[in-house]
Amino acid sequence: MAIATINPATGETVKTFDESSDEEVEAALALAVETFASYRLTSFAERAGWMRRAADLLDAEVETTAAMMTTEMGKTVASARQEVQKCAKACRFYAEHAERLLTDEPADASAVGARKAYARYQPLGPVLAIMPWNFPLWQAMRFAAPALMAGNVGLLKHASNVPQTALYMQDLFERAGFPRGAFQTLLVGSAKVEGILRDRRVVAATLTGSGPAGSAVASVAGDEIKKTVLELGGSDPFIVMPSADLARAARVAAVARTLNNGQSCIAAKRFIVHEAVADEFEQRFVEAMAALRVGDPMEDGTDIGPLATESQRQDVVELVGDAVAKGARVLCGGEVPGGAGWYYPPTILAGITPEMRVHTEELFGPVATLYRVADIDEAIELANATEFGLGSNAWTQDEEERARFVRDIEAGMVFINGNTTSYPDLPFGGVKTSGYGRELSAHGIREFCNLKTVWVG
Ligand code: NDP
Repeated sequence: MAIATINPATGETVKTFDESSDEEVEAALALAVETFASYRLTSFAERAGWMRRAADLLDAEVETTAAMMTTEMGKTVASARQEVQKCAKACRFYAEHAERLLTDEPADASAVGARKAYARYQPLGPVLAIMPWNFPLWQAMRFAAPALMAGNVGLLKHASNVPQTALYMQDLFERAGFPRGAFQTLLVGSAKVEGILRDRRVVAATLTGSGPAGSAVASVAGDEIKKTVLELGGSDPFIVMPSADLARAARVAAVARTLNNGQSCIAAKRFIVHEAVADEFEQRFVEAMAALRVGDPMEDGTDIGPLATESQRQDVVELVGDAVAKGARVLCGGEVPGGAGWYYPPTILAGITPEMRVHTEELFGPVATLYRVADIDEAIELANATEFGLGSNAWTQDEEERARFVRDIEAGMVFINGNTTSYPDLPFGGVKTSGYGRELSAHGIREFCNLKTVWVG
């Protein structure tokens, strides 16, 4: 895939970039190691000062940065602004809390025959981050803010269709005052990842993206015995029980499915509704989806912009086509609009059966699949009938039902009466083929640390 900004709203190539040469990659790796040697010794206070400055720059540059992201991958400019602000918040969170989250963990010295015993979190070294285009700033920042605050240095291999955002990240951290080499962007395609990951100077990797990409990177890292964190796809269930606030559930359902033009790993994708309220929910959900405004992502007031790439839209067209050919009913949307840009309308499919691809595959576009179930057991069974296990949503006012969902849904996250989202304070990640490891919170910052046992006799 060429490294280029191609505006999804028009299909026009805005700017192309040369791939980093082997010599440039070599220089970046050498600089990463050299910088790490001194950066690891900087204090939390110094790093926090730079991180706060990065947050201030993000806030000051929200308009230009948001427009850049919208041009590169089509998210609405309103959501792009929120993404920039969310990044600033994560920078401030780790600036404020990193030292506390990585404080020494005392152990009972007498139990191990020592005068003193404790565990200390230390940085690992240069970490390679392979990131996707869907939240081009946030996905990379979610790695960078904790990694840099822990004393690691970062190497970013971003998706090939968001090179401007990729370069902005390095520039941002440099202007914020971080030492040169603390965070570097490599403009390379996925074919170069294996060589970089096998280089002894790279100590670990994190990847957010598709299952095949995660599997490829984890295989190489496994071969090299290097730690990885994987945040892969999802097909989150959104369960609606009879006691739910149906009006709110339907409103949130439409937002949850069409978040980021439907291209989010934690978007609710499979809507599983108790038959007692299925007719009413269906009617409200269709109204909410059909009311969304599809259009120019640069315009305020647009709810849904184009899909990020032509092949992303082609994937959605094929999945919907397959379902319809096998008998799915289209309750709204389902037709590719004419004209330029890779637009796809908000769509709801009902009458889903197991042979349809949408039943098992991740649908990365604004298309919801709707199911009816007789009771909570069937709801949970269907929710778990997927290889994925990232987020999940359940709507109910019933305390016992809530407890069942929390206990029995196979997912990294369960949101009751709300849609899945990420917060710096809460761990984020999945189980099953949605990946492993956690980002954000104390768990995220500790992933790329050496937890060193110290015993003093
Ligand atoms: P990919 O998983 O292919 O891309 C994500 C990142 O991984 C990019 O930087 C990509 O680089 C890189 N990459 C891809 N293949 C390899 C490989 N074999 N070795 C090393 N790095 C690799 O996502 P796509 O953009 O192709 O989207 C395909 C599907 O993936 C979507 O439809 C969706 O289902 C899922 N996805 C999930 C995301 C999530 O948030 N969990 C985010 C994006 C996609 P390059 O761009 O150069 O190919």
